[in-house]
Amino acid sequence: MDNSYSIEVVCLFCDAPLRIEDNKEYQSGDMINCFECKELNDYDSVLDIAKEKGIKLAKDEFEKEINSSLKNLFK
Ligand SMILES: [Zn+2]
Repeated sequence: MDNSYSIEVVCLFCDAPLRIEDNKEYQSGDMINCFECKELNDYDSVLDIAKEKGIKLAKDEFEKEINSSLKNLFK
């Protein structure tokens, strides 16, 4: 199973994936420059959308985990 799914952060204006630098710490209120359309994306909004996607992914994974744990428990 591939556990290393990543949350994709996309531009609010053109939907292009945004490059978040790993070694840079973004803070609330920061702006992220889109490489495609050169628009500035509000970090908070971008993260909110990414979180919604991520939560859904995590939820699916979590349910799979729970199901297999329960099976192990009751076998
Ligand atoms: Zn863009």
